[in-house]
Amino acid sequence: MEDAFDVIVVGLGAMGSATAYHLSKQHTKVLGLEAFIPAHDKGSSHGESRIIRQAYFEDPAYVPLVLRAYELWDQLQNESNEDILSITGGVAIGSPRRRLITGCLKSARRYGLEHDLLDAREMRRRFPQFALADDEVAFYEEKAGYLKPEECIRQHLRCASKRGADLRFEEPVLSWRASQSGDGVSVTTDKQTYQARSLVISVGPWFAEFVPIISMPVIVSRRVMFWLKPTSTVTA
Ligand SMILES: Cc1cc2nc3c(=O)[nH]c(=O)nc-3n(C[C@H](O)[C@H](O)[C@H](O)COP(=O)(O)OP(=O)(O)OC[C@H]3O[C@@H](n4cnc5c(N)ncnc54)[C@H](O)[C@@H]3O)c2cc1C
Repeated sequence: MEDAFDVIVVGLGAMGSATAYHLSKQHTKVLGLEAFIPAHDKGSSHGESRIIRQAYFEDPAYVPLVLRAYELWDQLQNESNEDILSITGGVAIGSPRRRLITGCLKSARRYGLEHDLLDAREMRRRFPQFALADDEVAFYEEKAGYLKPEECIRQHLRCASKRGADLRFEEPVLSWRASQSGDGVSVTTDKQTYQARSLVISVGPWFAEFVPIISMPVIVSRRVMFWLKPTSTVTA
């Protein structure tokens, strides 16, 4: 048994690595436990890119969160001195009556986000690589871009560790339980048992089996992604 931690973070993928980093910035005594090696390819955060954009069509409620995320990615880039965020501009293409476009416009207008609404003719001029139907439009967002997810994890882990977080890999958590007094948790891995005041569970697709008490109808399925290199590039 080791000294108690303030917080144990289980799972150090995109979410857990960021959590460990931000907790360590608050002088919290953090233990991070990960089943595999850092930035491995078995979870949700593997691959070359993840899109980031501001005008969330899903709901304007996401916009303040994502604006804050841009600030935090900038801070991480400065602290780590690594390029993790690339601003490329991005387009959402669809019917002007469908939710993809109406939702982007709603978010952009509510939060004053810079954008252009391009018709098929304007798209052919500015982005000839996309063939829109005549009744489609494109919502263009200059501040959209992509993150390198594995690098994000590596830098969050590196900076968390620099600030004193204790990060352990290839140490799967087997079980956890709240203490009977209700003021802490104990977490058991294949190596030992740890105590902490709080527990953050960020096990992504393993959540349903890790926390069976919350019976969530989650089915994990494999998503195969491709990154294609264009033979020529066009800038807006
Ligand atoms: C194909 C695809 C495309 C996507 N595109 C985008 C996009 O463009 N933009 C965007 O914002 N988001 C995108 N997402 C979503 C984004 O990638 C995920 O939300 C994010 O990666 C989830 O991270 P996570 O930390 O929750 O999960 P994971 O990265 O899976 O991390 C969970 C971690 O928990 C660990 N773990 C599990 N069980 C245990 C245990 N018992 N003990 C210790 N460790 C454990 C795992 O090993 C893993 O490292 C996409 C996702 C997918 C799959």
